[in-house]
Amino acid sequence: MSDLRDLYQEVILDHGRNPRNFHALENPTCSLEGYNPLCGDKLTLYLKLDGDRIEEISFEGAGCAISTASASLLSEMLVGKTREDVSRIFASFHAMVTGEPGQAIDMDVLGKLAVFQGVCEYPARVKCASLSWHTLNAALDGASEPITTE
Ligand code: ZN
Repeated sequence: MSDLRDLYQEVILDHGRNPRNFHALENPTCSLEGYNPLCGDKLTLYLKLDGDRIEEISFEGAGCAISTASASLLSEMLVGKTREDVSRIFASFHAMVTGEPGQAIDMDVLGKLAVFQGVCEYPARVKCASLSWHTLNAALDGASEPITTE
């Protein structure tokens, strides 16, 4: 288990240092700013949609390794997914990082996002890990005002 932990740690650090899809999108369908005042994480998420399906995700911003890694992995993982897929994946992700007992966590659905499972031991970091998700959900719901995790 400690080897697995090290591996998870490494993936988070790698994505935190070298975030994927870290740029603005030209002609996005929508974009939205998200802010986590607890830690100071700030990002702008850009989405290109094809009907109900996500065609492209990118982001810019500044934040801690966990918030950056979370946005980076999200931007890789959710391409080609529908809104319904997104809410299913988010439900498992949220249950995993908050560690709420009795919540179903589907590890198959989570895939690479399993690297964030250690976050549930650090309640202060839960908002870092979920900032990009809250921003994405609000953008998909058509929000235009920046969102915060508070
Ligand atoms: Zn943070």
